[in-house]
Amino acid sequence: MSPGALPAGLSGNMGFIKSNNKSGKGLSSTEMVKQRTLKTSISCTGISLHSGGKVSMTLRPAEENSGIQFKRTDIAASGALIPATWNRVVDTKMNTTLGNKDGVTIGTIEHLMAALAGCEVDNALIEVNGPEVPIMDGSAAPFVFLVECAGVVEQPAHRRVIRLHKHVSVNDGERRASLSPGGGVSLGFEINFESPAISRQFFSLGLVNGAFKKELARARTFGFLHEVEQLWAAGLIKGGSLDNAVVVSGDKILNEDGLRYDDEFVRHKALDAIGDLYLAGAPIIGRFNGHCSGHAANNDLLRALFSDKEAWSYDAISVEEANSFSFQDEWLEDKPAVIAVTA
Ligand SMILES: [Zn+2]
Repeated sequence: MSPGALPAGLSGNMGFIKSNNKSGKGLSSTEMVKQRTLKTSISCTGISLHSGGKVSMTLRPAEENSGIQFKRTDIAASGALIPATWNRVVDTKMNTTLGNKDGVTIGTIEHLMAALAGCEVDNALIEVNGPEVPIMDGSAAPFVFLVECAGVVEQPAHRRVIRLHKHVSVNDGERRASLSPGGGVSLGFEINFESPAISRQFFSLGLVNGAFKKELARARTFGFLHEVEQLWAAGLIKGGSLDNAVVVSGDKILNEDGLRYDDEFVRHKALDAIGDLYLAGAPIIGRFNGHCSGHAANNDLLRALFSDKEAWSYDAISVEEANSFSFQDEWLEDKPAVIAVTA
């Protein structure tokens, strides 16, 4: 499936916490943003990155307040459910893997979670017939396509959001990640690789009205040829190929068609962060900053946030407030949503 081939009529409303009411007119200030789920179920088949096997996945509507939950359909029903929450993360080495109390796991969830966050899906049941979400093309775009094809519907309950009251940060040497209070939802990311094909990239984005789909969803995961070869030799990432990753060798990109964005690498890291942070169980209002960080730091950051009760609280959000996040609507229509990019 070509992620570039999104149906024109389905571009939808793909900013974070933006109301369906595009005009924002005629609303009382107390009208609240509602939770959303899928209109109908939708399935896809792909390969799993790590085992290389074929895997089928079905995204299903779910009741309000149920959140995102995974269900392994190859496991006895009693132990098959795995809620997509930060405290169920059991592995962050090469992807984000969740596990339940029965030891049943589901891996490589981050790109799908990013798509659900970007499409503002609060509640969904994700059925997978194996231990990994299919890798698809290594980005979130195919999952955005699935959500758009299924459609989304509002539910009666108010959307729950997380308000930040304090700056929270984690660091492990050069790897740093933080969350800061502020209006709207935005993120900044910086990476610094020795490889001349990547080197230093900085990216900052306000996640408003369409920015996720336009600026992040198509950014693919990436790897270095020498590392890929080592992993293959160790029997890992058996499904990894140029069809689902950007592969770098020295100063060259090995993919025939090159990059989808000039700074696709840092954009993919930002996409990963959005997916990992959606394991908070609700959209976080504020700003995320990442510096050379990855899945481990993203999860450490959520653990640090939730361990400090004074740092956050749950809240609902009014349509008026959500629309105020999109003050750049007009600006976004004819200019890229990127606030700042420097080499
Ligand atoms: Zn990724």
